[in-house]
Amino acid sequence: MNDRKRYSEKNVPAKRRLKWQVKVLLAAIVLVIVIALVVLLLSLAGGTTINKNASSADSSIAQDSSDISTSGPASEELSSESGALSKNASSKASSKAKSSAAASSKKADTSFTGNAESVLPDSSLTPEWAAKELDMWYLYYVDFDNRMPENYVPPVVKINTKYTRNSGFEFDSRCVDQLRRLLNDANNSGVDLFVYSPYRTYASQKTIYNNRVNEIKNKGKSQAEAEIEAAKRIMPPGCSEHNLGLALDFNIASDSFTGTKPCKWLMEHAADYGFIMSYPKDKVHLTKVDYESWHYRYVGVDHAKRMKAKNMCLLEYRQFLTSIKNGK
Ligand SMILES: [Zn+2]
Repeated sequence: MNDRKRYSEKNVPAKRRLKWQVKVLLAAIVLVIVIALVVLLLSLAGGTTINKNASSADSSIAQDSSDISTSGPASEELSSESGALSKNASSKASSKAKSSAAASSKKADTSFTGNAESVLPDSSLTPEWAAKELDMWYLYYVDFDNRMPENYVPPVVKINTKYTRNSGFEFDSRCVDQLRRLLNDANNSGVDLFVYSPYRTYASQKTIYNNRVNEIKNKGKSQAEAEIEAAKRIMPPGCSEHNLGLALDFNIASDSFTGTKPCKWLMEHAADYGFIMSYPKDKVHLTKVDYESWHYRYVGVDHAKRMKAKNMCLLEYRQFLTSIKNGK
């Protein structure tokens, strides 16, 4: 009995040791499970990150490829009629193509601003910048008091789009692409816009002007009276923006254009392509030319947008730039 008791008493610490070992073993198992879970969770999280990276990489690649796919038709459009046709096709293909084309046309906009930059805020306009811009070809100004020399010939090229009604029409080569883009975008938006009368040589302006003077004289007016009357609509040679190669009449040179869909489209969008209406209704006292809703000229996107925002005609805008040049 004593032995058994001793034996059993001896066994008590052994049983405790066993329980302790079991506890340690269980703790170790739990620890291993916890570590395994943590590792699993970490690997899952890592996988998500990788997947995210992969998907963002995919989307940026997709973005790049869409840019590449639209830069094709956009650049073709700038250079030829076939490009305009391919843009038509891509626009009809899907709305995605349309938005991509819009994105690429925004890109193209900035490359034709004249100073190749986005619109500068007034606060950053310096006298040096104003002096330089005032001498740039896209801000050339002509009127009765500022006649261009008879021998001035701008660097014109054929406009060459389906939106002209005459294959011989010409425009200044430095901004003809902007005109093509304007025409393509308008027509792709369902606006029937086309070129009616662009560049005129000094000689052809002289002929048109003289014909108009003679028409008025035939109604009983004197030469002087007829010249004043004619010049309200047709400038004498050397005074017309058409002679600069930078201006054109859209659709029809008549008051019937006013208020039409193409007229409204131009008023809203022309500045985005660097064009401004030369003879607005509220500037007749400054331009000395009757309101011509169909006559636009190129000044560059930067200047066109600023002129529109300030509601300035080119004469006023040149005065504004002159005041900046003079540090006022
Ligand atoms: Zn005109």
